[in-house]
Amino acid sequence: MRALMFEGPGRLHWQEIPDARLQDDRDVLVRPLAVARCDLDPAIALGLYPMPAPFVMGHEMVGEVVACGYRAGWQPGDRVIVPFQISCGACAMCRRGCSNACEAVPPGSAFGLGPHGGIDFGGALTDLVRVPWADHLLLPLPPGLDPVLGCGIPDNIADGYRCVAGPLRQWPGAPVLVIGGLAPSVGLYAVCAALALGAARVVYVDIDAARVSLAHAMGAEAHLVPLADIGDFTTGERFAITVDAHVLDGGRTLALKSTAPCGICTSVSGGATASAALPLRDMYLKGITYEVGRVHARALAPEVLELVVSGVLDPSRVAPRIVSFDEAADAMLAPDPKIVFVP
Ligand SMILES: [Zn+2]
Ligand SMILES: [Zn+2]
Repeated sequence: MRALMFEGPGRLHWQEIPDARLQDDRDVLVRPLAVARCDLDPAIALGLYPMPAPFVMGHEMVGEVVACGYRAGWQPGDRVIVPFQISCGACAMCRRGCSNACEAVPPGSAFGLGPHGGIDFGGALTDLVRVPWADHLLLPLPPGLDPVLGCGIPDNIADGYRCVAGPLRQWPGAPVLVIGGLAPSVGLYAVCAALALGAARVVYVDIDAARVSLAHAMGAEAHLVPLADIGDFTTGERFAITVDAHVLDGGRTLALKSTAPCGICTSVSGGATASAALPLRDMYLKGITYEVGRVHARALAPEVLELVVSGVLDPSRVAPRIVSFDEAADAMLAPDPKIVFVP
């Protein structure tokens, strides 16, 4: 089968690799129908987020089941949403909803992000993907839900959602500040989710004019700020809920200084370097909760899916550009906030 292989910074090529095959009676084989470009993918492709090569790229996917182990609980022809992090559903961490830290696999195990702890689960930009623990891991794609929208639900859509959903439960109706940037679709999904979940207002700050326009069209008050100025920018107000989807230091600075006393700031990345300075004294004096960590893809997916199906949350507002698999290598670095690859 063919697969889009990451071979190092700036080097993406389609290659022939051995066919995926069932290895356990709870496995299924899935044929990808739609694969969203994750916000992390361009950073990997460029080498900005160093990852050991080679591996097959792509990890946000909807697919069709083509073969099943006898205990997998699916049938050929079923359409499924595939959460990107591998989780077993049975270990202590999975049972408490920490599906990004499943104890049955090495830390970081996921599709399309390279071999972690020696295990390579393959990627989605290919013809067939083996899904372990499929009876637990997969979700049925609801009838009528376009695979192009469904594929991002457990990853970037859920990531934007969780930045505001929990905080809005603590601060119902509070205005929300989102700093966009290197997690371009996550920031916009956070805008979308905040407005859907009843935030009084959403203020959006970004360095990219197209994303600022999109956030404005979605209903946010949007500010375009040059990259060099973002850390010094101020909206003139403080927010109980802030989201840092900017990733670089300036965005985190803006998010934290804009967070109101006893507010919650959620960061969707660990920053661009291995360690970053935090204004801990100011955060202590204001009593800020700083939330940082990877999304729990499998645990959160049903909640997000239900909101999408019921029409409360409409991720199509972040209109993805649809690109064929054949064009995926070039489109991986395109400036669009969201791209979905189809075979
Ligand atoms: Zn991702
Ligand atoms: Zn587990």
